Amino acid sequence: MRIDILTILPGMFVGPLEEGMIRKAREMGLVEINVVNIRDFTTDKHHVTDDYVFGGGPGMVMKAEPIIAAVEHSCRWSEGEGVNPRVILLSPSGEVFTQEMAVSLSSERHLVFICGRYEGVDERVRQTVMTDEVSIGDYVLTGGELPAMVITDAVVRLIPGVLNKEEAAEEESFSMGILEGPHYTRPREFRGMYVPEVLVSGNHQLIARWRRKEALRRTWHRRPEMLRDAVLSPLDRKLLAEIWLEEGAAEN
Ligand code: SAM
Repeated sequence: MRIDILTILPGMFVGPLEEGMIRKAREMGLVEINVVNIRDFTTDKHHVTDDYVFGGGPGMVMKAEPIIAAVEHSCRWSEGEGVNPRVILLSPSGEVFTQEMAVSLSSERHLVFICGRYEGVDERVRQTVMTDEVSIGDYVLTGGELPAMVITDAVVRLIPGVLNKEEAAEEESFSMGILEGPHYTRPREFRGMYVPEVLVSGNHQLIARWRRKEALRRTWHRRPEMLRDAVLSPLDRKLLAEIWLEEGAAEN
């Protein structure tokens, strides 16, 4: 996979792309990440990337020409490879990013992120080169750089070979349609709090049942709306009934 991140602040990516899983994925050759300075695609003497808003109003808008030139430059690679690039504009007006979207993007060959700044980008970027408009949540950040990092992180860890078997993403929150349950590591006792007996029992069937039940319990408490859409097995329904009884008993 190749990821091109188009920004006027390339320095923001120096740390995040050079640590942890992303660094490992790059070193293993599983992903190539290029941070592209939009300013390099300006044609004027002062390398201007923004201008005043037509019609008046506060703030500045990012100019279309250098962004489109940068996207076209990046997309020459996908043209050569015969693949369709996903050109993703980061924007609070976009479709809200989810794990499902991360899974879908992780099977693409070429992602191009456009990081906006100021009031955003000239509308003609949307009309020409953009294929997707994505938001990372209902709040406004100063730029698209952090959203590009968030999405890159969520996508790269799903590329086959990036996570090892122990870290496999299949049983994580959202991938299972519900949240993940609690985890414990050593010591078995810490400040009077004990690791649940079942987890040290060695009985794998009981451990799997406990984990599923606690995942369901956590989802029920924190994100009950997820249970409405989750695919629940007959055992899940039984576990939920048990939780309901236990929680009811705890309340009384
Ligand atoms: N005027 C814009 C609006 O009201 O939607 C907000 C612009 S914001 C200050 C500057 C840039 O940050 C945006 O163009 C976008 O690239 C990025 N950005 C801010 N919040 C974001 C979010 N929640 N998701 C994705 N990108 C975001």
